[in-house]
Amino acid sequence: MNSLSDISVPSGKMLIGSDWCDAYSGETLSVENPANGEIFTSIAAGGAAEIDAAVKAARKTFESTAWSRMRPIDRSRLLEQVALKIEAHAEELALLESFDNGKPKHLAMMVDIPSSVEVFRYMAGWCTKIYGKTLPISGDGRQYHAYTLRQPVGVVGAIVPWNYPLPMASWKIASALAAGCTVVLKPSEVTSLTTLRLAELMLEAGVPPGALNIVTGVGEIAGEALITHPDVDKIAFTGSTPVGKHILRSSANDLRRVSLELGGKSPTIIMPDADLDKAIPDAAMAIFFNSGQTCFAGSRLLCHESIYDVVVAGINEVAKNLPIGAGQDPTTMIGPVVNKKQRDRIENYIKIGQEEGAERISPEGDLPGQGYYVKPTILSGASSDSRVFNEEIFGPVLTATKFSTEEEAVKLANQSQFGLGANLYCKNVKTAHKMAAAIHAGTVWINTYFVVDAAMPFGGFKESGIGREVGEDGVLMFTESKSVCALLDD
Ligand code: NAD
Repeated sequence: MNSLSDISVPSGKMLIGSDWCDAYSGETLSVENPANGEIFTSIAAGGAAEIDAAVKAARKTFESTAWSRMRPIDRSRLLEQVALKIEAHAEELALLESFDNGKPKHLAMMVDIPSSVEVFRYMAGWCTKIYGKTLPISGDGRQYHAYTLRQPVGVVGAIVPWNYPLPMASWKIASALAAGCTVVLKPSEVTSLTTLRLAELMLEAGVPPGALNIVTGVGEIAGEALITHPDVDKIAFTGSTPVGKHILRSSANDLRRVSLELGGKSPTIIMPDADLDKAIPDAAMAIFFNSGQTCFAGSRLLCHESIYDVVVAGINEVAKNLPIGAGQDPTTMIGPVVNKKQRDRIENYIKIGQEEGAERISPEGDLPGQGYYVKPTILSGASSDSRVFNEEIFGPVLTATKFSTEEEAVKLANQSQFGLGANLYCKNVKTAHKMAAAIHAGTVWINTYFVVDAAMPFGGFKESGIGREVGEDGVLMFTESKSVCALLDD
């Protein structure tokens, strides 16, 4: 299975209730293969009217017994069925993603597909385990029965980016559905295909119509209509920090529930006692995997001065051995970035970094002729006040900066508007845990990187977001807690 003719490419229609429909205006958006710039299909360009219809469908299903009041054990079984469906269609979905997003199919099989399967499987377990508590209230001496109920928040508007399209959609859909909510999801206009295919598979699995609705379209039109729709109870957003801030502001009018998973500029810190045989390849893959388009990519190397030269040379050596090419080639490790706009943005940042005084280090050789490729690049000697050290580049570009003490390493790590993740390489256990406690980040990985698990809450400090997805926190964020207090005395 390696070409588009081997798989079922979604028609590009949106899912509203049980209907697959075109945009009411008939407008479409072209879908381009980033490995060669060819347009290979199109998707519907939905807007406010389609969002309104989708929210109505989600509300109707929410109010009916079809989903929110389905027996939890039956809901659980359906989410498990979805996990099985994704597993059964794994290769097809990975190939589709490689054409739409550019990422290597074999790497999507290793990361995107299992992450999507596992969140449905994990959240299937939560359907039967969301419960309130009885409360030992003191009251006024009379006898009360007080307890909390955990109720689904209602209709969820979910908006996701293009870097891990299927897992990002799956995280939100599985968690919201497990909590008993219904969902209107707007995928990124750049990568909607696997989400549309997922929706087809979910209907096949038996998820009732209206529980999941997909409206495709651009952020400023379809996304904007979703975040401002008065009948959406919660917005769950993953994407850039500027759009996240805009969503937070627009939710202030009616205090709509909002959770935000935003940008990052995560450090990889290498202490002088680190196992370099492990730290060097890990530091390289923590930035170069997915062509650097990972929100928690280790995009800032902070390395002890005593080992800096060895580490930077080692990372460049790893980079030299990462084949660059189309996502369908099983040897490819670095696929194209998602589109021309992103490629140009990354190249501009590399120029800025050099102008700011960093040394550009990247493997020799030409890039593949066509497509939006960027070489894995190190900007060595990036100063902590430079733009490239502080701004999210979202490409295979690593800034490298020296430190001399543990305190300085923590200070540099925390010198960021972001606080999503941090990778720390250090053999001394006490130092590692002390530093993990001091680093301002939603996740700290010690002597490892990129371990993201459906059971481990994920999210950011500071401008990397608000709230935590997946894990217990991630399902409870789609619920409201209600206290009930009944007087038992006459
Ligand atoms: P983006 O913010 O441009 O777009 C994300 C989504 O928001 C897209 O679906 C887009 O159509 C929509 N959108 C854009 N403008 C909107 C508006 N005005 N109203 C409503 N929706 C709107 O981000 P992107 O370029 O797709 O993705 C890259 C960004 O996502 C990076 O900053 C990355 O760090 C972040 N990200 C964060 C996480 C996380 O978990 N923290 C995960 C993946 C990606």
